[in-house]
Amino acid sequence: MANKYLFTPGPTPVPEQVVQRMSEPIIYHRSKEFREIFARVNGYLQTLFQTKQPVMTLTSSGTGGMEAIIVNLFSAGDKVISVNAGKFGERWSAIGKSYGLNVVEIKIPWGETVAVPQIIEALSIHPDTQGVLLTHCETSTGTTTDVKSVAEVVQKYSNALVIVDGISAIGALEFRFDEWGIDACVTASQKGLMIPPGLTFIALSNRAEQSALVSTLPKYYFDLNKSLIAYENNDTPWTPAITLVRGLEKSLQMLTAEGMGNVWMRHERISKILHEGLTGLGLKIFSKNPSFCVTAVFLPDGIEWGNFNSQLLSEHNIIIAPGQAEYFGKIFRIAHIGNIDDSNIKIILSAIEIILGRMHDERTKREIQ
Ligand SMILES: *Cc1c(COP(=O)(O)O)cnc(C)c1O
Repeated sequence: MANKYLFTPGPTPVPEQVVQRMSEPIIYHRSKEFREIFARVNGYLQTLFQTKQPVMTLTSSGTGGMEAIIVNLFSAGDKVISVNAGKFGERWSAIGKSYGLNVVEIKIPWGETVAVPQIIEALSIHPDTQGVLLTHCETSTGTTTDVKSVAEVVQKYSNALVIVDGISAIGALEFRFDEWGIDACVTASQKGLMIPPGLTFIALSNRAEQSALVSTLPKYYFDLNKSLIAYENNDTPWTPAITLVRGLEKSLQMLTAEGMGNVWMRHERISKILHEGLTGLGLKIFSKNPSFCVTAVFLPDGIEWGNFNSQLLSEHNIIIAPGQAEYFGKIFRIAHIGNIDDSNIKIILSAIEIILGRMHDERTKREIQ
């Protein structure tokens, strides 16, 4: 079986050393051995989030982590401002609504990002806002939200909790939980953390921990108070995905050895090389504030998504992602999160150049005939 090149925004490529670690014999999670691994993982996770707060590990995909934040920090009827600039901002709103929160949505056109004055205005109209829901990298549009600046004004103008979906961003974009004054952040295993899907991670500020003590929404498996208590002993309330935790120890060791600053710079550098290469091929980037995690690109006129995608796969073993919702068939998305470097970018750029060149030649031929 030929190796495929995964350029999808989850799952992302898993390094060989991590695969090896996960193939070791299973161990018991209530053992000294596991607790020692988990203690090291917990330390690395704090570096990843740039926090002194606990970072809890839950067995679930990222959406479960988002739901955990909502059910632990709020009660029915609480007002939250949700920035909806794409598929994942929309998900924050939907989770909030399904638990009876009063969701005030700031709707942003796809490919654009919320401006700080819009946040200030929404907070002045809704001074009773208890939380502001943000998406650091809106994966559906390849757009970065300026979480740092938004957090600053939320703190200045309100008492609302700043809540960040960092699922595609953590381990790729600069992020500083403590310094930026973030109250809750969630990420997942299959993106910047370079392991398969199945784990989600949550950090809470002291303020958010206080909210978790008074929230009345129903919860059991995702009760973060239980997770926080278990965390004290490097433990989890329920059986964790032990194998993934073992892989995680390796991947986080790799990330922290590289250094978070270097990891962030690598993502910035390779995304800029990709952007220049794509623009050089005459393609147009979709986002007005492109992220260093995912690049969304307009499909050129006359190029059909299905055809383009199947040529990338069959001839070059490359898997990319389509546009979502109304942008299906209009844009395509290349993820460059995690275990990716310059050589991967060269591979995808040359494949796109070959395919577009041939498709262009075929069209010219048809036009002549
Ligand atoms: C991938 C992703 C999610 C969803 O995570 P799942 O692990 O599929 O549940 C949520 N938010 C963002 C920004 C994502 O990129």
